[in-house]
Parts: sequence; structure tokens; C-alpha cells
Amino acid sequence: MKRILFEVVLAASLAAAGVFGWMNWNDGQANVVKLTELTADSESSVQKLATAEAEVKANGAELGTLKVKTQELDAVKAALASGETLKDLEALYKKEKSLSAERQVGLGALRLLTKGSQDPSTIEAFRKALVIADWGSRKKVICAAQIALAAGGEKVDVLGDCATPGDKSDKQKVGGPDKAAHADSSKDEHGAKAGEKHAVHWGYEGAMGPDRWGDEFPTCAKGKSQSPLNIKGPFEKAQFGVAPDYKPGQLKIINNGHTIQVNVPPGSKLRIDSKPFELVQFHFHRPSEEQIDGKPAAMVVHFVHKNDAGRLAVLGVLLKEGNENPGINTLWAHAPQKEGPEIAPEGVMFNPANLLPREYEFYSYEGSLTTPPCTEGVRFFILKAQVNITKEQVEQFPFKKNARPVQPQNGRAIAG
Ligand SMILES: [Zn+2]
Repeated sequence: MKRILFEVVLAASLAAAGVFGWMNWNDGQANVVKLTELTADSESSVQKLATAEAEVKANGAELGTLKVKTQELDAVKAALASGETLKDLEALYKKEKSLSAERQVGLGALRLLTKGSQDPSTIEAFRKALVIADWGSRKKVICAAQIALAAGGEKVDVLGDCATPGDKSDKQKVGGPDKAAHADSSKDEHGAKAGEKHAVHWGYEGAMGPDRWGDEFPTCAKGKSQSPLNIKGPFEKAQFGVAPDYKPGQLKIINNGHTIQVNVPPGSKLRIDSKPFELVQFHFHRPSEEQIDGKPAAMVVHFVHKNDAGRLAVLGVLLKEGNENPGINTLWAHAPQKEGPEIAPEGVMFNPANLLPREYEFYSYEGSLTTPPCTEGVRFFILKAQVNITKEQVEQFPFKKNARPVQPQNGRAIAG
């Protein structure tokens, strides 16, 4: 408990003095340069000079508070100088299978203080935090990691909505408490609340297409376990089975601008090796993101599940052109053609099991979200049995193409 408290204090003082202080210092320097230029230019107006002087003065006032913060940070640094605390923390964390994004940032902060911002272990800790942080509820962690990486000279774009205490213009833009902290199950695959406008946009074509996602979301470009994959042999033997146990419930359907998604009420489960994962939502891609021996299917349904520990598992069902699919008929009848809020047509029930084949044999591999921020640590199960959908039904889907290209396998094993 003590250690966790310590990490929070550490991260806070780091954020206040270390990183933001560095930014303010740069602002101050820029103003001094501006002032010098203005003085040298005999044509410059007195008005301009006065403004610049006032800016420098304001920065001087902030320097006082900064000084106190620096002293506080120095005190913390001195206490950690022997490196014993870091060793202790590293040993403790080594015993844990996986760290939370917050702890990962804490570890990064301690390494930063004792080893410096450019040490590979510091950068690694912050990178990891960035990878495992869930986009919806961990904005602060993501911002902390991004700012620290940028300060360490790493090529990372700090998101526009990572407001810093020193930047007043940003404060006005953000306003109010962190809304993302109250994210609910109506989130889409990348954790963003559906229908909400973001500073960050992405798509499937052109300047916002998949090969540009890495500009804003580093994992999309640098991750080594990305989805989707082209599924091809040799296969490893699957060690366990999966068993969907889906229940009917009120239909809640949304066009979130990237796909048609159905948000599922609690009660539907997927058992993986007998362990329960709750079905949160399912959505569609056209054509299928996964390929079998280099060939995509007409479409794919991704059933997204989460267990109590927050682990994600995606069950993929490929849709091939053939007979009419009654389940799809029900969904398409209510699916909004344009991006907008979730709708819940009164009295319309839907059972996700209607979209499943009879057999549950699968291919399986360790992957990622197939949409930004491309978070890794997602287990994929692609069913070998495919279900039918007519050509007309495929054409009624409001997205012509919403599939991320297949990603390098990087030596990952595929069970099947
Ligand atoms: Zn998907």
C-alpha cells in the first residue's frame, strides 16, 4: 500500500516539476529570444516591446512556484539516489505477471528519476504503459507516458487533448472533469464512447488510413503482435476449447462512424478453457479482416469479450456469400445508415447466438485491437466454420470497406 502511495506522489511531482517545468522553461527561453529580437529591431513598436516584457514578467512569476517544485523534486531525488528503492520495486514487480498501466508509469517515473529520461529501461516502461493503457479510461496515464517519452527524445506525438497545467489555452478546451473516466459498455472496440467527437480521427483510406494510424497511436506501427493475421499453417495443437453461451436481450445498435456495432446487455458469456469472458459488444468488418490462406471472406463478425481481470478476447465468425442470414436481416433492419447515437428499438430482442455456426473449432493467436490504439494482449479465436450471408446483405452494410490490412506474424504461433 505504502509503495502505491509513493508511486502516486512520485508521478505527481514528476508531472508537476519535471516535465511541465521543462516545458515552461522552454516557453520562457522563447520569450527572451523574442524580446532580444524586438530590442534589436529599431523599427519595432513600443507596444510590442511592452507586451513581450509583460510576458517575460509573467513567466518570472511562474518561475517562483517552479523553484519550489524543483526543490521538492530534488528532495525526492536525493532520497532515491542510492537506487535501493528502484531495486526493491523492480524485484516486487518482477513477481507480478502483468502490471497495471498506472504501475508501469510509476516504474517509469522512478527509473526516470534515478537513471534519466533517455535510459532504455525508462523508455521501455513508459512505452509499455502506453501499450496497455485502455484508451477510454486511462487518458491521464496515456498522457503521462507520452509526455515522458517525448521528453526522453523518443519520437512520439503527444495528443492534443493531453492538457498540461502550464498551458492555459488547453485548459479551456478540455474543461471539467475527465469524462472518459465514466466510460460504459457502449464503448466501441477502441474504448472510445460511441458518438463522441474526438480530437483524433482515423479511417480506412487516405491521410487517415491504416498506414497513418501510427502517427497518433504508436502501437499501431511499432507493435509486434498486431491483428489481423493471414491464417496459414503450420498450426500448433489447440490446448483447450471455447464455448459461447449467449442469451437474447434488448437490441442496442449503433453506427459509430467506423462500423455497425451491437452493444450487448450483461449475461452473455464465452467460456475459454472453462473460464468466463463476458460478451460486451459485437461489430462487423467488410471484407473480413482475417484471411485464410491469403483470402478474406465477404465479412466478419467480431464478438468482443472481457473477463474480470480486464483481459480481452475476440471471437471471429467469417461470413461467406451464400444463403440469406435471418439474424443479419433483423440487425440491418435497425442499423442506422449514418453515424449517430445508439438506438434501442422498443421490444426488439436479439440473440447473438443467431450469428454463430454449429461447430466451434477455431484458429487462435495472440493479437491486438484492429482499430486505434491497436492495444496488444487480445486473444483471437477465429471459427473454422463460416456462416452464410447473401450478396445483397453484404451490399446493405453501410461501410464499403472497413478492414485493417493483415499484419506481420512476427513468429507468433497460430493454434488450429
Ligand atoms: Zn473488429
